[in-house]
Amino acid sequence: MTNEPETLIVPESIERVGENGLAIQWSDGQRLSYSAVGLRDGCPCATCREKQRAKEKDREESKGKLRSLPVLSAGELKPISILRMRPLGNYAYNIAFSDGHDSGIFTFDLLRQLGK
Ligand SMILES: [Zn+2]
Repeated sequence: MTNEPETLIVPESIERVGENGLAIQWSDGQRLSYSAVGLRDGCPCATCREKQRAKEKDREESKGKLRSLPVLSAGELKPISILRMRPLGNYAYNIAFSDGHDSGIFTFDLLRQLGK
């Protein structure tokens, strides 16, 4: 009768939790919590994946060597918050963060993985 896969699990409600967090109630009954930082780090767009890769490569290359101390930039110290969550079709959310990044497409699959 329906074309949708039987396993399609969708968000039923999203609520804000504290300053920088949110919780999603999923259609299978699970309620998962998210932090803005966790979502920001999990951003699947090409730019962020590239940054993530560069960071890992850096870590690999500095193993066993005297490495430069970690730096925390002013931008990284600012608490990240979620400005907007916009549904895309019925499979994903586009999330805009307070650091100006708004091109990440978070599929429901990814959101299920990032939640706790
Ligand atoms: Zn991104």
